[in-house]
Amino acid sequence: MQNPVIVCLDLEGVLVPEIWVNFAIKTGIEELKITTREMPDYDALMTRRLSILDQHKLTLADIQAVIDAMGPLEGAAEFIAWLRERTQVIILSDTFYEFALPLMRQLGYPTIFCNQLEIGPNGRIVNYKLRQPNQKKHAVAALKHLNFRVMAAGDAYNDTAMLGEAHAGFFFCPPDHLPKEFPQFPVTKTYPELQQQLVRAGGLRG
Ligand SMILES: [Mg+2]
Repeated sequence: MQNPVIVCLDLEGVLVPEIWVNFAIKTGIEELKITTREMPDYDALMTRRLSILDQHKLTLADIQAVIDAMGPLEGAAEFIAWLRERTQVIILSDTFYEFALPLMRQLGYPTIFCNQLEIGPNGRIVNYKLRQPNQKKHAVAALKHLNFRVMAAGDAYNDTAMLGEAHAGFFFCPPDHLPKEFPQFPVTKTYPELQQQLVRAGGLRG
């Protein structure tokens, strides 16, 4: 008999828009469009982002209001509901609980493992804490250790270790160059395509 299935999903680019990029567009703060592509040092990037937020006097509540208005990707809420009727789902994300909250509300509060922000008494973001390095891969490995059959889907470099660790891993709408580097992960471009792959690989109800 097959072990019970758990599906691990990336958040940004799979269920919701890229939070920082869309936040930059919505607020018109150009500098917030910088990503790890321009600044490979994540610590330096986050320190820069937090100082920009501070310059613009943005509190966590202001940021959450903007994120709330972003909403999930079209069809994401229905996809999550479909999946949760069939199996258990955990979102593994490198974002922060405080940013994800407004989007989780719109997705029906699925389980999410991510990171924390430290909020000052005036509501400003003063620091951030990564729960553990390479958490996506570690989470999948731990679930396997608990005798689950793990399937995973993600869209970017920071998902490839998770996809590789899972019993079955799929790309969802990745940038063009990524499947060339990681041809072992099948590419899906729509929720119905991903559903089909998960049904096949996990023996889920279609
Ligand atoms: Mg992503």
